[in-house]
Amino acid sequence: MSETEIFDVIVVGGGPAGATAAYDLAKLGRKVLMLDKAGRIKPCGGAIPPRAIRDFDIPDHLLKAKIRSARMIAPSNKGVDMPIDGAGFVGMVDREDFDEFLRIRAAEAGADRRIGTFYQFDRRDDGICIITWRDKQDRETSALTRLVIGADGANSAVARAALPAQRVPFVFAYHEIVETPEHIAPEHFESTRCDVYYQASVSPDFYGWVFPHGKTISIGTGSAVKGFSLRDSVEELRAKCDLSEAKTIRKEGAPLPLYPAKKWDNGRDVILAGDAAGVVAPASGEGIYYALLTGRLAADACHESLRTNDAHALATARKRFMKDHGRIFFILWIMQTFWYRSDKLRETFVKICKDPDVQRLTWESYMNKALVKKDFMAHIRVFFKDLGHILGLATPTRP
Ligand SMILES: Cc1cc2nc3c(=O)[nH]c(=O)nc-3n(C[C@H](O)[C@H](O)[C@H](O)COP(=O)(O)OP(=O)(O)OC[C@H]3O[C@@H](n4cnc5c(N)ncnc54)[C@H](O)[C@@H]3O)c2cc1C
Repeated sequence: MSETEIFDVIVVGGGPAGATAAYDLAKLGRKVLMLDKAGRIKPCGGAIPPRAIRDFDIPDHLLKAKIRSARMIAPSNKGVDMPIDGAGFVGMVDREDFDEFLRIRAAEAGADRRIGTFYQFDRRDDGICIITWRDKQDRETSALTRLVIGADGANSAVARAALPAQRVPFVFAYHEIVETPEHIAPEHFESTRCDVYYQASVSPDFYGWVFPHGKTISIGTGSAVKGFSLRDSVEELRAKCDLSEAKTIRKEGAPLPLYPAKKWDNGRDVILAGDAAGVVAPASGEGIYYALLTGRLAADACHESLRTNDAHALATARKRFMKDHGRIFFILWIMQTFWYRSDKLRETFVKICKDPDVQRLTWESYMNKALVKKDFMAHIRVFFKDLGHILGLATPTRP
């Protein structure tokens, strides 16, 4: 890299958000560098909806399992099955292969892929940004760029360096990856079913999960409650589904932000995407699709800002996202703050999931990432069925 070389965009982070941003920018003909801290597999349940597979050309070989139903488990241990209609499925990816596939795709499209840990953001007098990182041998390297995308996850160093501090609600999520046993009873585990535990002992404010991945299983939980032991909770979950003796492959955790930050850009030359921008759905903790999408939106916004020489274009990424997804994020936030408060409410929540209208609307909006407008009567029916549970009990506010 010559000392005078100036990139159009440096993307910090090579997860779903960063790798997608780098890929899209390279395809748009931009000179882009993707910097990623190598060596750690992202802790993640790995569930992705068909919309992600479709819109981001995810090849079938990356899907370690195809999920045909979810089982919601209430505090009383009663389970409600939610089958997916027809040929639909939820894809399960292993992040080690999935993220590397996205990074290779970005490099093959023309992104300059670098391995290193970003640690400093500076600006020259002429407005060009200087990004400095340390490589594996702890050597310092810098590169020049017009714009920066911070896609470096929930603890974004880019956000800390270039944007004012913002408060985003989060839970800490932890899971254990175990080998799938050869024989296990279907009431404990099935290879095409995701089990979701709504029980205070598993999580006092979120949920626990058992997600099949072909040869492995992710067993995890999340919580923001200080002092709550996620490890003990996963031990309990493993016992509940007869997986205590299964061989443990990895134990790992990470913070999970749960609402879009108010500002994604600094109005000048830096924009955030994915977890760095807080874009994980409340109630479900779904972040992969939203990281892929906001990586794409950030790339578009940078391309437009460079084309027009107007930094205001950076703000279009958040605007476009909130226009299409702001309402569903708010609904999910209400669900989380309302239903995840006590075992009594969780019991009712799981009971509501028996309703065929609820099941259809839930799957359709998860799979296709759009509120189902055409089925107006189903919305009305769900609204009146839920009204009795909600009235007078809570008035949720935006985080
Ligand atoms: C336990 C757990 C389970 C989850 N399960 C699911 C699920 O089933 N489905 C789902 O949709 N979502 C799930 N999520 C959320 C999902 O993993 C995240 O929302 C998603 O990974 C966000 O992608 P990202 O690219 O924004 O950030 P990340 O995937 O965190 O990627 C950030 C990248 O930046 C790099 N980086 C970090 N700091 C630096 C630095 N200083 N310099 C250079 N590079 C840096 C990292 O190495 C990493 O490659 C889960 C999260 C957790 C913690």
